[in-house]
Amino acid sequence: MPIKIYNTLSSKIEPLSPIKKDKINLFVCGPTVYDYSHVGHARTYVAFDMFVNYLKYFKFDVFYLQNITDIDDKIIQRAKEKNISPKELAKQFEKEYMTDMQVLQIKSINKYARATEHIKEIISQVERLLAKGFAYQATDGIYYDVSKFKEYGKLSGRTAEAAEDGTSRIDEGIEKKNKADFCLWKISKEGEPTWPSPWGKGRPGWHIEDTAITEKYFGAQYDIHGGARDLIFPHHEAEIAQMEAISGKSPLVKYWMHTGFLTVDGQKMSKSLGNFTTIRDFRKENSPQVLRMFIFSSHYRSPIDLKDTAVNEAKTNVEKLQNLAAELQNINKNGKGLVFTAFNELQDRFWQALEDDFNTPKAKAVLFEIVSLANEQIAKNELAINQAKKILNFLKEINKIFLFLDFKKAKEKQEIPKEILELAEQREKYRQAKDWQKADEIRQKIENLGYLVEDTSTGPKIIKK
Ligand code: AMP
Repeated sequence: MPIKIYNTLSSKIEPLSPIKKDKINLFVCGPTVYDYSHVGHARTYVAFDMFVNYLKYFKFDVFYLQNITDIDDKIIQRAKEKNISPKELAKQFEKEYMTDMQVLQIKSINKYARATEHIKEIISQVERLLAKGFAYQATDGIYYDVSKFKEYGKLSGRTAEAAEDGTSRIDEGIEKKNKADFCLWKISKEGEPTWPSPWGKGRPGWHIEDTAITEKYFGAQYDIHGGARDLIFPHHEAEIAQMEAISGKSPLVKYWMHTGFLTVDGQKMSKSLGNFTTIRDFRKENSPQVLRMFIFSSHYRSPIDLKDTAVNEAKTNVEKLQNLAAELQNINKNGKGLVFTAFNELQDRFWQALEDDFNTPKAKAVLFEIVSLANEQIAKNELAINQAKKILNFLKEINKIFLFLDFKKAKEKQEIPKEILELAEQREKYRQAKDWQKADEIRQKIENLGYLVEDTSTGPKIIKK
């Protein structure tokens, strides 16, 4: 079955069919580097990381490109407040962003492209838009004339007239011809960073950096563009207007994918609302695996509310997987070897859920059916070695995509120190002799040393807490 994904452009779930057979060029809007990244950013970047890992797992040759907005109004403003240069500030927070990505184990991005390193390409795009009559010059910069692009609004379903309703990051400009016109090149004010251009010293507008970067690496058309849904309008709409006007080719992007928001009490987590938790603060209490499991548990297009209950559930689920992996690595004698047909069927259902618009919550439900089934069979001593290996292998394979499991930890869990094993043996002797008090004392001692004893039908089992 082909992979299917929801395309914002058509508002339909479509089979994924790249422009060039198995090659996929994919671009996701990167961060504006003026502050620490928050869990909302992590939601979008982890979701795309999982999706790209998934495509690569199925042998698509993916080139994943991300821009870094290292010049814009917010950077200039924040740098002023901190009394440092915008360049210094951007450099510092780009480094922090990279650290966060590393901690979250996001390794799927092939190339990060800074806006300030693509000024030549940006100027070339503005020149071509002017030459084709899609742009005009005002005192404070060059603007895109949306009335010239007949298909304006085709991604968001919004008209040029409704452009400003309820959206931020719309360019102001007293000489604008239409409300929705946006700035391509800003003439710099005193003290702001500048680059020379045919229209005077200035800096790029926000939307043009992305099309300049994607044109350089991918050309006029490519396969997938992603970001969170706040970017559909005006940002992605503007990208379409720019690039399709320049190239005369349509569509700029074959599949537009948008993630839902991470919310707090139903409101988008954002720096401007002040309701954010930085990734590094979140990490003080939770492992990267827990954050990835939390994100995996919701569909990428749905909102996720950051609630303790949901995070704790993710924590428990990571524990469950970790415990199972430890158990499976530990099986060294053959159980009765029940025929394990259900597992194959469940495995198929897991992959089918992902094929259907990357439905991770559905896949998660199937994964935990597998966990229950395996635990049941382990408890009854019915799992054969080859079956245990098969399940363990499945967990290892899916972890290449989702990275919600730490196999090193699972292995540590499995290696029970000699001292603990001896205590467990002593306890068992007391139990056999029905000396419950002494047996309980030893159980407490074992617990204090960080291990749990579970009495199963096949004897005591020791697990690292
Ligand atoms: P920014 O640095 O604010 O431009 O955001 C970088 C990326 O993170 C963009 O794709 C945003 O759409 C996305 N993003 C920002 N806030 C959230 C949120 N609360 N939930 C999901 N994605 C978000």
